[in-house]
Amino acid sequence: MNELFNGIHKIVLPFQSPLNHVNVYLIEGEELTLIDAGVNSSQAWSELEFQINSLGYKVTDIKNIVITHHHPDHIGLLDYFSHDVKVFGHSYNESWINDYKNLQMHFNKFINHHIKAYGIPDGFKKTLIKKETEGVASTKKITNFLTEGQVLPFLPGFKVLETPGHCSTHICLYRKTDGLLIGGDLLINNIFLNTFMEPPMIGSNERPKLLLEYNKSLLRIKNLDINLIYPGHGEEIKEIDLLIDLQFKKQQKRKKRVMRLLREKPHTIYELCTKLFVGLYEIQFALALSETIGIIDLLKEEKHIVINKTDEVWVCNLNPVPAYF
Ligand SMILES: [Zn+2]
Repeated sequence: MNELFNGIHKIVLPFQSPLNHVNVYLIEGEELTLIDAGVNSSQAWSELEFQINSLGYKVTDIKNIVITHHHPDHIGLLDYFSHDVKVFGHSYNESWINDYKNLQMHFNKFINHHIKAYGIPDGFKKTLIKKETEGVASTKKITNFLTEGQVLPFLPGFKVLETPGHCSTHICLYRKTDGLLIGGDLLINNIFLNTFMEPPMIGSNERPKLLLEYNKSLLRIKNLDINLIYPGHGEEIKEIDLLIDLQFKKQQKRKKRVMRLLREKPHTIYELCTKLFVGLYEIQFALALSETIGIIDLLKEEKHIVINKTDEVWVCNLNPVPAYF
């Protein structure tokens, strides 16, 4: 735990994953506010209590929790807080948190339909399907929805930015006066796999193209005056433009690799995934597949490739009308 800025404290909580930890931030504004809520574990809760106590507060002093997005490592401790704590998040969290069972069914229907089309062997199905028993990380509801440009009365100076891409529910908090961005998982040092596949929103037929959204969010951030990002994982980010450019370079490399592979022969989405992410797809299939689909979305958008959907298994081809990098 350390004080980063006047009144903003970084609290690092345990998170059993390759990342090992997740950052939450305590802000002493008009009211005590927590940004993000770690993972749902008693160990994480004890650590949060301990660190908040050593700052001279109690967890019950926290009046508001703002979540940057719905992922389990950012909402997990919501259930530990009392019912009168307000929880702020983007309205898209509605289905991910408040209506999860419905979304889970919707997601599985989408996966079942696409698993064949993507050419994915049955063995990987269980890594994609959400199990009946698997609940949302928290049952506490979002009480207040956030939208673009909103200013929160208890956090003077900060403005909500909608920054979809890592997932559809993602927001950041931006303080223009000193160029500070509380960035959630938009950018993390040394991480170049940033999007997670999502089903179409309930009521829509189209799957969100999250890597396209992600790139728009990155360009937006690049054009703002930002001096420092407090991320959801890892150290503060100072070299913001550099990290954004690296993200684009990494994508460019993956796009070129797909183009080379397709020059040799048409591929299914699964085949591209296994060749793009050798060593990763075997252990983190959902992540590798999400990024592959993102790269394919980009190449399709740029008209470099086409997807033939006439057969049960879809096939990616180079666009017969050539487009050049
Ligand atoms: Zn995270």
